[in-house]
Amino acid sequence: MNRFDYVRAGSVAEAVAAAAEPGAVYLAAGTNLLDLMKGSIARPGRLVDVTHLPGLDRIDHLPGGGVRIGALVRNSDLAYDPDFAKSHPAVAEALLSGASAQLRNAATVAGNLLQRTRCPYFYDPASACNKRDPGAGCDARGGETRLHAVLGWSEHCIATHPSDFCVPLVSLDAVVEVEGTSGAREVPLDALHRLPEDRPDRETVLEPGDLIVALRLPAEAAGFAGHSRYLKVRDRTSYAFAVVSASASLRLEGGRIGEARLALGGVALKPWRARAAEAALTGAEPTERSFARAAEAALAEARPSGDNAFKIELARRLIVRTLTLAADGTPERMPALPASAFSGDALHA
Ligand SMILES: Cc1cc2nc3c(=O)[nH]c(=O)nc-3n(C[C@H](O)[C@H](O)[C@H](O)COP(=O)(O)OP(=O)(O)OC[C@H]3O[C@@H](n4cnc5c(N)ncnc54)[C@H](O)[C@@H]3O)c2cc1C
Ligand code: SF4
Repeated sequence: MNRFDYVRAGSVAEAVAAAAEPGAVYLAAGTNLLDLMKGSIARPGRLVDVTHLPGLDRIDHLPGGGVRIGALVRNSDLAYDPDFAKSHPAVAEALLSGASAQLRNAATVAGNLLQRTRCPYFYDPASACNKRDPGAGCDARGGETRLHAVLGWSEHCIATHPSDFCVPLVSLDAVVEVEGTSGAREVPLDALHRLPEDRPDRETVLEPGDLIVALRLPAEAAGFAGHSRYLKVRDRTSYAFAVVSASASLRLEGGRIGEARLALGGVALKPWRARAAEAALTGAEPTERSFARAAEAALAEARPSGDNAFKIELARRLIVRTLTLAADGTPERMPALPASAFSGDALHA
């Protein structure tokens, strides 16, 4: 084990000052960070524990209809907040499809956004990895690529971002509130994570000391509540990351799609907003033919990063299935289990 300082921050200002030091990182529930430290993949010189910061564990339903979610709200608490689950069902469904009940009870909102990739070569110190060791190479190229990217990847890194939660959030224009050494600012979630290009070690636009204090969903996000679903294809029903996932939200008007939101998970190093597909759906009738056209548009730029061409067809089919379920309407009751892409009615209510 490497030696590190431990600082328990009592205020946001204290946390930001302590984490601005080189080698310092924030510690939330530690469900990702501590695993990385135990494997010597992460070797921070200082842990700044933010779990005792006051006021960051609240869910506030804002007067104009938006929602502000504190960075320390636990994944389970958000998914089971009855008002939130009703107004943002795809987000709740995505949260409940992640990890296990125990992990969701511990994991925080900010920690979920900033969890690291699950590329197995990144977790193996014996493998070359440009993300862990810039310039070292990438052993995933030509290796086992089942969970690797088909969109937005580069020769330097083909990893994916593993969060389920981020997928509906990015489709609903979520914004991250950040406190840093130069004060407060806001970052649209779509701009938080970087694609790998030639610097896969630079994962987000955050600077040293930047603390996520909250996540905000605009009022318009709740306008999709009646037709919103999240589906995840994975190797086991529980405790497995997405091979591919999709979040679809529709606003239907007079038998047509007034507005559509669509995003994919498990396909790129960031949650992937499918804007071309959204444009193709707007004004169309909610039919299988329209959904298939949208799926084509969403995957138009996709290319395998190894032996994973199957993911492109899988993503197309998942988009059609998720849009079909969203058009049918959000179920009255939250599914007891997250919907499976393979089940007949996909509902367990
Ligand atoms: C076995 C297993 C299975 C899992 N399966 C899934 C899954 O299927 N789907 C899924 O989405 N997730 C899954 N997860 C990931 C899990 O959701 C994350 O580990 C968790 O959300 C991280 O939250 P945390 O509070 O523990 O963060 P930590 O581990 O404490 O921190 C994670 C990162 O976020 C940074 N950080 C934390 N808080 C802040 C803040 N406020 N501001 C700035 N930086 C911050 C930390 O410095 C660190 O880099 C799984 C995890 C495990 C261990
Ligand atoms: S895909 Fe990215 S994370 Fe995985 S080994 Fe290559 S550089 Fe590292």
